[in-house]
Amino acid sequence: MEDLVQGLAGKVAIVTGGGQGIGRALVLRLAAEGCKVAIFDLSTEAGAETAKLAGDAVVRTWQVDVSDLAGVEKAVGEVEADLGPIWVLVNNAGWDRPQPFLKTTPEFWDKVIAINLTGNLNTHFAVAGRMVANGGGRIINIASDAAKVGTAMEAVYSACKGGLISFTKSIARELARKNVLANCVCPGPTNTPMMAEVAGTGPDAEKWKASLERGIPLGRMGEPEDYAGIVALLASDDGKYITGQAISVSGGMNMV
Ligand code: NAD
Repeated sequence: MEDLVQGLAGKVAIVTGGGQGIGRALVLRLAAEGCKVAIFDLSTEAGAETAKLAGDAVVRTWQVDVSDLAGVEKAVGEVEADLGPIWVLVNNAGWDRPQPFLKTTPEFWDKVIAINLTGNLNTHFAVAGRMVANGGGRIINIASDAAKVGTAMEAVYSACKGGLISFTKSIARELARKNVLANCVCPGPTNTPMMAEVAGTGPDAEKWKASLERGIPLGRMGEPEDYAGIVALLASDDGKYITGQAISVSGGMNMV
């Protein structure tokens, strides 16, 4: 027990997009810290697979599209009825298909914004008021270093992540006196199913990955587990004096 962060045992956490990639690693870490975890994911199969990996821990899955406010509100109510008052909200669900901005369409922008920006407004709207009523809570938003330095081929996605950081800072100011703390964690390029889909396979993909890694001072891409410790800390009593921050966890790639 002495290796754990303080004060997470028995707390209820929601992790959006917990079915795979970074979200899965966050679910498993929060479960190991003793949290009861609710996964909100489009894929119940992926959520169930994550729950299985958590062994005896309490990890349940709700099929939720974060861009659907009514669905989010319904699931949040069920989580509180089923698991108890929500202490942690991790907004991790995200989606993109990199392409030159001038080749995109307004329909594509709408989808990117609905998932990566509006989806987060929906979950905050459904959960933060309950946190205030419960006497406090912790919100951790998975943004991206793309929000801080931009990234070619991901202009709309980057705009959403930048918006998410600004939104987080504003909410952090609004809710600090209610003991609701909100922060962003900003990953750099990370080995996840999303990255695998973007990068593709074969020699060109390997060459691209190698050149990416040359630009990362710590010499490698991120792994989903690289974000678990900071998220657990921000959710815990050890994080009780941290709010409104956007913390880069990217191997030193962008020192901003
Ligand atoms: P991933 O695609 O591997 O996993 C995302 C999960 O979110 C999936 O389980 C998917 O089903 C779920 N999801 C997608 N849309 C959803 C929706 N509308 N409602 C509910 N669930 C939904 O992604 P990942 O690479 O693990 O990324 C996780 C987060 O980290 C995202 O917010 C992403 O933007 C961010 N991020 C990733 C990287 C990277 O290089 N992988 C870099 C910076 C930031």
